[in-house]
Amino acid sequence: MAYDYKPYPYRRAPGLTAPEPRHKVLIVGAGPIGLAMAIELANHGVRSVVIDDNDVVSVGSRAICWSKRALEVLDRLGDVGARAVAKGVTWKVGRTRHHEAEVYAFDLLPEAGHKMPAFVNLQQYYVEEYLIDEALRRPEIEIRFKNRVVGLDQSTDHATARIETPDGAYELEADWLIACDGARSPVREMMGLAFEGVLFEERFLIADIEMTADFPPERWFWFEPTFHPGQSALLHKQPDNIYRIDLQLGWDTDPEVERKPERIVPRIEKVVGDRKFRLDWSSIYTFQCRRLDSFLHGRVIFAGDSAHVVSPFGARGGNGGLQDVDALGWRLAAVVRGDAPGASLAAYDRERTFGADENILNSSRTTRFMTPADGIERLFRDQVLRLAGQVPFARTLVNSGRLSVPCTYALTGADDPALPLAARPGSVAPDAPLGEAWLLDRLGREPVLLAIGRAAPKGVTVPVLELAAEGWVRARYLGGAGAALYLIRPDQIVAARWQDADAATIADAVRAMWEGRE
Ligand SMILES: Cc1cc2nc3c(=O)[nH]c(=O)nc-3n(C[C@H](O)[C@H](O)[C@H](O)COP(=O)(O)OP(=O)(O)OC[C@H]3O[C@@H](n4cnc5c(N)ncnc54)[C@H](O)[C@@H]3O)c2cc1C
Repeated sequence: MAYDYKPYPYRRAPGLTAPEPRHKVLIVGAGPIGLAMAIELANHGVRSVVIDDNDVVSVGSRAICWSKRALEVLDRLGDVGARAVAKGVTWKVGRTRHHEAEVYAFDLLPEAGHKMPAFVNLQQYYVEEYLIDEALRRPEIEIRFKNRVVGLDQSTDHATARIETPDGAYELEADWLIACDGARSPVREMMGLAFEGVLFEERFLIADIEMTADFPPERWFWFEPTFHPGQSALLHKQPDNIYRIDLQLGWDTDPEVERKPERIVPRIEKVVGDRKFRLDWSSIYTFQCRRLDSFLHGRVIFAGDSAHVVSPFGARGGNGGLQDVDALGWRLAAVVRGDAPGASLAAYDRERTFGADENILNSSRTTRFMTPADGIERLFRDQVLRLAGQVPFARTLVNSGRLSVPCTYALTGADDPALPLAARPGSVAPDAPLGEAWLLDRLGREPVLLAIGRAAPKGVTVPVLELAAEGWVRARYLGGAGAALYLIRPDQIVAARWQDADAATIADAVRAMWEGRE
């Protein structure tokens, strides 16, 4: 059954009648990133107004693959993470084929002991629906549907948006404006900011079909399959018996012609054989990798697609945007509360432009492998595919998408190289079971000092979580060491770690964290 789009209620904005008092935070765009941002700020006690130019969740087929880290972020936002996992198709295995032979397979989460799976596949409209449900429950959030930003001004201490509604226009002032208005970001346009990067000269058909079939919950990718000669293809299973099929078409194809169902249906029939299906959604896409030079512009902050875009192969768009939410929420909340200087937001810019570059690099490499330029690039690609069936080293060079994982920030917080590399400063704190509960459930609102296999030093001012040196906690946090102290940021990132430290050293690290100097 096709998704049932229900419009959310439009209400007349108070600013249409009389000027509103200045708001703390205005979020432009109620896509996944704007909504998650509002809930994360509410978690930290900060109020926001969210405006969106329409009144329904994302139309058509966009993001489907949500990564472990994205699910961990969503898990802090009320019941959104739990609903996404319950509804979504959980998967972790990907298979890449050349013609019909498997040349490469990967398992994204071979280890147990994590609350969240490697990936779930779930249509973007469900994720947005769950986020709206949660946002509507929060007293700190006001969502205004059918409110479109059409103008913007800013001074040193606030931004002013001009907003159009079905009942006329009004102005709204906010100390901070977060632009989550998507890849074509009108806010970015209004500010005249360059969005540098590349457009890949390739077209893909994206089709969602409803079909009863017994395909396993895996990602299947083909180079040059017999059903679609000379091109590539991708198949993903989603809930509600919906399958996503991506077919590479080539740059020379005419998108107007390819859009027609009489062209699409025979192509899909070649993929699924004689199974019956219903075409739920289709579109023709070209892909770009671009980002803003900086995500911070005075009182205007960019997050999600307005700040950076990538090709979908690797699922790094929405997942990368949720990591922006992760890195910005606690910092902006501290600035709004007066607990941190405005300059600390530079750390958000530093970390997330770094994350965007990593995503763009991975996404560009994949796109180039899938659509090599004539000459040496094509020769290399074809030889890798030919050899991959025979020689193990060539398999690692096959690139049908390096799937979204969080980057490790280059933090300067104290480190002890005797402790495990995967938990070094800048990494997401690895999850671990704590009896029936999970370690990440105990982190994510305020800084926490993990005291593992030892007591915390006297006089520590941050909350302490003492953990026994056993099981997954030992394996992931201690390695061969007997005990350790880990300072974890409110976004569950490791800020610093020691085998031993006094309270003054830890207090310095906490200060550096709030000031964005770590
Ligand atoms: C085909 C495809 C497949 C994808 N697959 C994946 C995937 O598997 N995994 C993944 O993580 N990502 C994927 N992505 C990327 C993902 O869809 C985006 O990264 C994600 O939607 C970005 O969210 P956002 O909130 O930043 O922007 P958007 O979702 O674009 O939301 C922006 C919002 O701003 C509103 N808006 C715009 N202008 C104004 C204005 N002037 N005033 C008020 N409101 C305004 C819009 O109505 C919209 O609601 C895919 C994208 C595509 C196109």
